[in-house]
Amino acid sequence: MYTLASILPHINSKRHLVRNAEQPIYDLAYDSRKIRNAEHSLFFALKNVRDGHTFISDAYQKGVRAFVVSRDDIDTTLCPEASFFWVNDALKAMQDLARYHRRQFRKPIIGITGSNGKTIVKEWLAQLLQEDKKVYQSPKSYNSQLGVALSLWDLSDDYDCAIIEAGISMPGEMDQLEAMICPDIGIVTNIGVAHAEGFASKTVKLTEKLKLFKHTRDVIFPSRYAFGKYLSGETRTFTFGENDVDQVQVSRIAERQEGSSSIQLIYRQEMVTFTVPFVDKASIENVLTCLTTLLFLGYSMNAIIQKLGRLRPLEMRLQLKTGRYNCSIIDDTYSNDLASLQIALDFLRQQQQHKKKTLILSDMDGLNDHLEAKLVSVLRQQNLHRIITVGKSLHRLQDKLDTLLLSFDSTEELVQNLGNIAFENESILIKGSRRYHLEDVSKLLVAKSHETVLEINLSALEHNLQMYRSMLPPHVKLMVMVKAFSYGSGSFEVANLLQFNKVDYLTVAFADEGVELRQHGIDLPIMVLSPDEQVFESLLDSDLEPEIYSFRILKALIDFLRIRKQKDFPVHIKIDTGMHRLGFLPAEMDELTTLLSASSEIKVKTVFSHLVASGNSQHNDFTTQQISLFSSSVDKLEVMLGYKVVRHIANTSGIVNWPSAYMDMVRLGIGLYGVDMNKKMALEKVSELKTTVTQIKELPAGVTVGYDRKGLLHRPSRIATVKIGYADGYSRRFGGGIGEMSINGQRARTVGSICMDMCMLDVTDIGAQELDEVVVFPDLMEAAERIGTIPYELLVNIAARVKRIYFYG
Ligand SMILES: *Cc1c(COP(=O)(O)O)cnc(C)c1O
Repeated sequence: MYTLASILPHINSKRHLVRNAEQPIYDLAYDSRKIRNAEHSLFFALKNVRDGHTFISDAYQKGVRAFVVSRDDIDTTLCPEASFFWVNDALKAMQDLARYHRRQFRKPIIGITGSNGKTIVKEWLAQLLQEDKKVYQSPKSYNSQLGVALSLWDLSDDYDCAIIEAGISMPGEMDQLEAMICPDIGIVTNIGVAHAEGFASKTVKLTEKLKLFKHTRDVIFPSRYAFGKYLSGETRTFTFGENDVDQVQVSRIAERQEGSSSIQLIYRQEMVTFTVPFVDKASIENVLTCLTTLLFLGYSMNAIIQKLGRLRPLEMRLQLKTGRYNCSIIDDTYSNDLASLQIALDFLRQQQQHKKKTLILSDMDGLNDHLEAKLVSVLRQQNLHRIITVGKSLHRLQDKLDTLLLSFDSTEELVQNLGNIAFENESILIKGSRRYHLEDVSKLLVAKSHETVLEINLSALEHNLQMYRSMLPPHVKLMVMVKAFSYGSGSFEVANLLQFNKVDYLTVAFADEGVELRQHGIDLPIMVLSPDEQVFESLLDSDLEPEIYSFRILKALIDFLRIRKQKDFPVHIKIDTGMHRLGFLPAEMDELTTLLSASSEIKVKTVFSHLVASGNSQHNDFTTQQISLFSSSVDKLEVMLGYKVVRHIANTSGIVNWPSAYMDMVRLGIGLYGVDMNKKMALEKVSELKTTVTQIKELPAGVTVGYDRKGLLHRPSRIATVKIGYADGYSRRFGGGIGEMSINGQRARTVGSICMDMCMLDVTDIGAQELDEVVVFPDLMEAAERIGTIPYELLVNIAARVKRIYFYG
């Protein structure tokens, strides 16, 4: 247990003001929206995207009484009961503290790095070890400079070992992570091309990643990557592969029926053969990494093989689904520990579409008094309508919480009684550990689903948002384009996340889209592109702000507002600097300002224009000209209006390529959704369109497949029918082998024409089975190029009937 006095020596503080040296500290906080245990939190004012110092008073109001800050101009009299520590760099101070805390942990720490597979290896190892050890693992995606510090802070003597993931995206980052984690055992997974962007070459990236193991005695990896030569001479390697020097020699991998593979190994002169429930190369390599690690740790081969048989692919976390009775269901029925519960509760809190919030919670593994006290304090911080517990030991929460509590001994008992609990218009978080099978509850509450789904990864979206934000100077505001159903990926589901992350503005294409956001609790300012007269009423009712692009629409709006006796109605003026689509021409500024100055009904909030070719360096001169034309037009407008307006012109490519065009605000679109038109950013994939194989047929050469006999088979073939067609947004242009989907990580081409609800794939050369999952666009950019379009079109064409599934974490 720490107090302010015991923390002080470990954060390198230059100066401090301590009011209560004995104040106990359990939590590290950095985000005033995510404070859980205020009176026992130490708040670090990080200079992230937002300057954390601006949230000190907010955190103080919530009860935080201890702050680590780097700015000298803090007015401490505003927080009369709080202690302050001044440091040069608050993140560094948090890392130093985490590092000190980690040193108190005497059990082994396994550090994992790599480009692909590190999360899955971490989760699988935890699953495998959990059967006989208490394992701490860093929560998913907590692998960064901040995430690792927070992960390490939660280490305690309750655990027998820890598995910590380290991720970097730029040279120079690993030293700091190494100093904190200082792993006893290292694991390297696949070093692929992912996130190569920040590095000059693969070798540079590899050298940087392997710095994690500077002081590590033993490192485990697949020998085909030959990482050994980059490690220090002191380090011992423990490898698997086909080489003579490998401790674990893989002699044969063969695919068997029904999605499983048989693997033959030689370890210490003994040969074994066993089956694993995977066929794709990546999963098999990850399984072998786990197996090799367990051998290294001294488990017997027999015990390991039994454990491996129980491995399952990782399910997605925190899925947000549409429920029955107008509920939103957040499904997280895969694990239950405090760290992941807190992440899930934060996500529940983001959901603005319903006021009412319910938590269905199973028993936690290893719940002792210490963890229970923490659990109670976490639950007390939440504004929950009710809590439904499953499992015998949670009954006793009854006496400790004020929230309405319903308790059931088992999942079966809850399922039997589910019909008696009135669920309606609420967000329900279902959170349970695997052995409780709470998915049985979620199935009953979720509205029936269609086989073709678009999965949307909200944490990837959040990551991409931060990537772009980090490029912008602090004074530049951020407007996010959520038009066209957020480029196909959803309305309030995406907007909730943006609102939570405090973007400044949202933009929709139609007033209806804005009205829907308002109905679901979104209160950010919303701009509506090119509205017409029919929607003025709903603009006014729903507090939406129109783009004004012509004299006709401007005059109509003024007339409308005059009748309604409205003053200072906020509008956004569009100037046409070269797109020649909508907007006032620069030559029309005089006439425009005359009209605006005479109309007290209207207040110009922002003035904007749109770049025609910000992503195309061929037209750099034209872009420069657009920027200067825009600036001079707005200068003129401001002079004549007599007040300053917010200026914006840059879209995603403008953010990436044209810092001189940031002005007061930028408009982020496609990049947020994970499509990097400029191939310069380390973005994460946000949406994945998936379907299933409905039937597989063995057909002889010479027969044809599909309408008009378009798909002639030149060899005996296996043909898979999949449940997606042009009515789902899969263009007919993908027919005849132009389109490629992916099954178990392998590509399959279309055969014949695309039908309305289905199409056919040639799976002769790959191991596909009926009911296998199919990824429709393994590479969105490539798919778009194949049919001569752009990723924007593929995304927004995904039909409304395709069910969206959201997940986070
Ligand atoms: C769609 C749109 C954007 C965003 O463009 P991206 O290329 O997706 O970043 C910006 N401004 C306006 C006016 C738009 O219509």
